[in-house]
Amino acid sequence: MKTFIKVIKKLYWLGLLGFVGSFLDIPSLELFYLFFLLALVDFVLSIIIVLRMEDTNETVSDIKFLFQNLGMLIGIPIIYLRNRFHLPDAKSYEPKILYSLPFQGSWNVANGGVDRETSHSWNICNQRYAYDFYIEINGKTFCDSGKSVTDYYCYGKPILAPADGIVVEIKNLFNDTPISDEPEALCSASDIRGNYIIIKHSEHEYSTIAHIKKDSFYVKVGDHVQRGQQIACCGNSGNTSEPHIHFQIQQGKSFLLSASLPICFADIINHTTCKTSPYIARGHIVENKK
Ligand SMILES: [Zn+2]
Repeated sequence: MKTFIKVIKKLYWLGLLGFVGSFLDIPSLELFYLFFLLALVDFVLSIIIVLRMEDTNETVSDIKFLFQNLGMLIGIPIIYLRNRFHLPDAKSYEPKILYSLPFQGSWNVANGGVDRETSHSWNICNQRYAYDFYIEINGKTFCDSGKSVTDYYCYGKPILAPADGIVVEIKNLFNDTPISDEPEALCSASDIRGNYIIIKHSEHEYSTIAHIKKDSFYVKVGDHVQRGQQIACCGNSGNTSEPHIHFQIQQGKSFLLSASLPICFADIINHTTCKTSPYIARGHIVENKK
């Protein structure tokens, strides 16, 4: 493709002949303006090359990160259009699958819920109903100084398949993002998800689990997974302030172009509320029934 771009770069200078055509009033020469369109082709192909490059240097990584953020902005109106301006919500959406929590034992819901107040990020509709989970003991999520990812109780813990399905995408590229001195999310990867897995559970229900520890995957693309099977380990890759599991269900495989769906859980214990609801929310402590 690089040779093709080199040829294009030479050809679009022919567009200058269009100015000669305009100056001499020769309409057939004015057609040479069309060669300027090749500049656009050159631009698009160059972007594709950068996006396909491995993150070998910081510039490529920064450009990919920028494009993902732009993609997220462009994705929002596309998601609204695809859903005819009626995004799925907890009242109207009929789930195809009831999910298990993607971990063993009791974890805290650090972020997420099915209403605007508790939502992971209400206005970012591809992550509206996502959840972040971590382990808290005596009000703290870490022991020792908390400056190393390994200080965190959930770091390295097994991640489980939330339901039966087929693995359709895995990224296993990024080292953990170091813990920041400030309580803010950092991202040392070109993808906010860091290492992630996407599992197809039904025609229009896919799960994404993100921030996975590099090289901790137990499955590969194409594998059939069963609910509760270990698929990877919790890490701190991508855009994150501390190790946690980001879990969401979405309408399609594309993270940027799929609406996030409210997640109905089944066979879980909610230690925080005695209300029997399939939904969980920020502040709850939850676990799967054994
Ligand atoms: Zn998250």
